[in-house]
Amino acid sequence: MPVKGLGEYDSNNIFARILRGEIPSRRVYENEFAVAFHDIAPQAPLHVLVIPRGPYISFADFTTKASDAEIAGFFRAVGKVAADLGLEAPGYRILANMGEDAGQEVPHFHMHLFGGKRLGAMLVAP
Ligand code: AMP
Repeated sequence: MPVKGLGEYDSNNIFARILRGEIPSRRVYENEFAVAFHDIAPQAPLHVLVIPRGPYISFADFTTKASDAEIAGFFRAVGKVAADLGLEAPGYRILANMGEDAGQEVPHFHMHLFGGKRLGAMLVAP
């Protein structure tokens, strides 16, 4: 179900549970600000999610409430994950869904990283 509005952070959302190690994930990278792991239902040959460690619901929540260090650390981690996965040369796409119109399902801010093939049109109609 899409996220309804912003509201309060749900500390039992699936990514919060992954961060606490209560649910397994295939981690590819982690540092003090971010954790990256394979999406459970990949939509490209390579589909990784990068999430901040802090309790932020959406892009807006993250960019308004997180510290400068968290924001810089998170975005640097996204870039490092893409580079470490060998995606710089062939190219890749990053995407973040926010709220209902975008169909955000998990209310913990995350960036999708897609690669491993020609990704085609930026938006595909449902
Ligand atoms: P979004 O629609 O942007 O909120 O994306 C949520 C993503 O989380 C989807 O691509 C799901 O496949 C992915 N997802 C849900 N549960 C898990 C999980 N336990 N481990 C890894 N990825 C997950």
